[in-house]
Amino acid sequence: MSAIAPQRTYEVKTFGCQMNVHDSERMRGSLEDAGYVEAVDGAPDVVVINTCAVRENADTKLYGHLGHLARTKRERPGFQIAVGGCLAQKDRATIVERAPWVDVVFGTHNMGSLPTLLERSRHNDEAQVEILESLEVFPSTLPTKRESTYAGWVSISVGCNNTCTFCIVPSLRGKERDRRPGEVLAEVQALVDDGALEVTLLGQNVNSYGVEFGDRLAFGKLLRAAGAIDGLERIRFTSPHPAAFTDDVIEAMAETPAVMPQLHMPLQSGSDRVLRAMRRSYRSSRFLGILDRVRDRIPHAAITTDLIVGFPGETDEDFEDTLRVVEASRFASAFTFQYSIRPGTPAATMPDQVPKEVVQERFERLVALQDRISAEENERQVGRTVEVLVSVGEGKKDAETHRLSGRAEDNRLVHFAPGDAAPRPGDVVTVEITRAAPFHLLADAGVQHLRRTRSGDAWDRAQADSCAVPAPDATSASQGGAAQGGAVSLGLPTIRVGA
Ligand code: SF4
Repeated sequence: MSAIAPQRTYEVKTFGCQMNVHDSERMRGSLEDAGYVEAVDGAPDVVVINTCAVRENADTKLYGHLGHLARTKRERPGFQIAVGGCLAQKDRATIVERAPWVDVVFGTHNMGSLPTLLERSRHNDEAQVEILESLEVFPSTLPTKRESTYAGWVSISVGCNNTCTFCIVPSLRGKERDRRPGEVLAEVQALVDDGALEVTLLGQNVNSYGVEFGDRLAFGKLLRAAGAIDGLERIRFTSPHPAAFTDDVIEAMAETPAVMPQLHMPLQSGSDRVLRAMRRSYRSSRFLGILDRVRDRIPHAAITTDLIVGFPGETDEDFEDTLRVVEASRFASAFTFQYSIRPGTPAATMPDQVPKEVVQERFERLVALQDRISAEENERQVGRTVEVLVSVGEGKKDAETHRLSGRAEDNRLVHFAPGDAAPRPGDVVTVEITRAAPFHLLADAGVQHLRRTRSGDAWDRAQADSCAVPAPDATSASQGGAAQGGAVSLGLPTIRVGA
């Protein structure tokens, strides 16, 4: 990597899904590898916008942001703007046409060239647009700057071979490319060595993992192999696809203690007619059958989903089918979307687009139903004892309520009263659930047990590094000595929130 003027600072703004959040870690890693440092004063030399083309009004939001940044560009010589991600992949030259003050446009397949493109743009004083049509380096082989010490993400595949008619991903991210299991496991091991207790395996469709190297059972095997990694306590994955979800994966989940009792299983619609129009090849009965089998083998599994309301041609009857399947599914929570046209997708030009007011009315009914179910399912957790991995940034009201927050094994958000315990992010506490709300659980009876972990030690070290005070050594931290007054009293770190 060529040298860049020292100490240029950057900020990465992230829109969209977890895959984008993960990609942003790669962008930060590439920039830091090239000598940039993250801006702490809110006035970076480079702003990188990692865009999403899936969410509604993505382009309006992007150009709004770029409009604000134009002023900074006029006022601050040397200030640079880079636009990457899915929308950049899709709109490429249009971005520089509509916002000529942008310096770099790069795609989803060439995140690693970002520092070079920035440098070239400064040198040549002209915008650099570089979009690769296919993947040359798997993103996970790029350097990373991880957001947390206790959890990390590992891509197992990128792209998707499906053709869901509402989805822009296949045309932007290309055909599915799978990483070899050895590479994935090496990266998981590296995260664990770095202090992580939890790893989420990422792919657009994790159940088709292995299709590229001819092993249909590869995903279940991968879960079992990751489960054998010493020190890895929590394995999650996203997203599976109901059409490709096979019983060997359920068995691997049930028989691998580190695989958490949680499943995000996108339903999208409960109407078989709409599923067909969406080109989703499962039907509602198969979907419900999967949930039954998962719950049979993993009784406390929390299952979440994605739902789209108002897909073109959706009738009242179709929508009633969705309500029926949602009622039967007992999801812990759901991401519910109102269908809106995404240019470039097959559904965008389908006849019978549903009027906005009808979509809105159905959406509200569906959200009300799911909120009731979420509240009822959370109510069933009251009295249970759960292990919570303490996190940062998940309890917006923690400061005023004197609670800390984290995720239970089933990924439910728990706000707990720490009492005299002083857990660090990455430590694990055992608490009893005392109250439930639709979107979180409360544990106000104190901490039954605090387990100080390697992740908590790694947190201490990261805190100490960022504050330029000597890090407590791992042994004393894990015995509760030096760390007790250490990281906790240093206060909370800066937390970046992806939009
Ligand atoms: S499975 Fe469907 S919704 Fe998911 S990424 Fe592939 S095409 Fe898009």
